[in-house]
Amino acid sequence: MPIPKAELHLHIEGTLEPELAFELAARNGVTLPYPDTAALREAYAFDDLQSFLDLYYGLMAVLRTERDFEDLADAYLARAAAQGVRHAEIFFDPQAHLARGVAMGTVVEGLWRALGRSEATHGVSTRLILCFLRDESADSAARTLAAAGPYLDRITGVGLDSAEVGHPPAKFRAVYEAAAALGLRRVAHAGEEGPPEYVTEALDVLGVERVDHGLRSVEDPALVARLVRERIPLTLCPLSNVRLRTVDTLADHPLPAMLEAGLMCTVNSDDPAYFGGYAGDNFDAVRSVLGLTEESVRELARNSFVAAFLDDDEERRARYLAEVDAYVF
Ligand SMILES: [Zn+2]
Repeated sequence: MPIPKAELHLHIEGTLEPELAFELAARNGVTLPYPDTAALREAYAFDDLQSFLDLYYGLMAVLRTERDFEDLADAYLARAAAQGVRHAEIFFDPQAHLARGVAMGTVVEGLWRALGRSEATHGVSTRLILCFLRDESADSAARTLAAAGPYLDRITGVGLDSAEVGHPPAKFRAVYEAAAALGLRRVAHAGEEGPPEYVTEALDVLGVERVDHGLRSVEDPALVARLVRERIPLTLCPLSNVRLRTVDTLADHPLPAMLEAGLMCTVNSDDPAYFGGYAGDNFDAVRSVLGLTEESVRELARNSFVAAFLDDDEERRARYLAEVDAYVF
């Protein structure tokens, strides 16, 4: 059995495997521009960000009904559970669905059908995090948060994702203030493609509690010192970094140096259907390619539960941490 872990950086739309895409397309009468799953699987071998985003948004056309979102989440949770995930904080991108005429309620209630029973079905506790698309306007983000009003009992926090460069965190100051006033937790992608200054801005202007990716923080020693001092978790996604060429090869990934520096790193899958692996695959890859010790792997697993939004259930957090401590490699 793989080491128990929490997954804190996972886009549910990025878990759409070719087989499920075809199943949902058939159910909804959507024609995909690929003859079969093998051809679609080949398209998943994109080699740059734009071809990934084109495919990613194109395939969302198959997600139409509550049942589609339920099936999507259920398939992810089954795969995650098999790789040792005990707790998952799941991102979703409502703007990508609202723009296609799919209502907020369809998305949230559909996902919730799977999340609400996940503990019984898969042994995985869950949280849901609504992400704003940073290449859309601040007004659009504000409208999206308003549309989520009736569903806030299902939503733990807000995040910020999609193309980073040219869309600094400060653009979303107002909507993050509104989210904070609603009692929502705050995270944001920063320092993936964007500069270390975006990480600082996400902390200072948006008030984020965790930084998604944060990889380029290593370019700024003062920022690293601050992240260590303030115990800010970073949700790293090593296989994603390789596929999107944030690092040249996995062997070049700075994770070992980041752990050495005392950063609170976690390892996650990002968009696992597209980036070559789920949470456990990412753990296995960094362990073998980067030569992490068993104790470093245990530290990554511990960090994932420490950084999880489980403040309303500390008993559960303690239970998960005890599972990590008792784990025998
Ligand atoms: Zn991401």
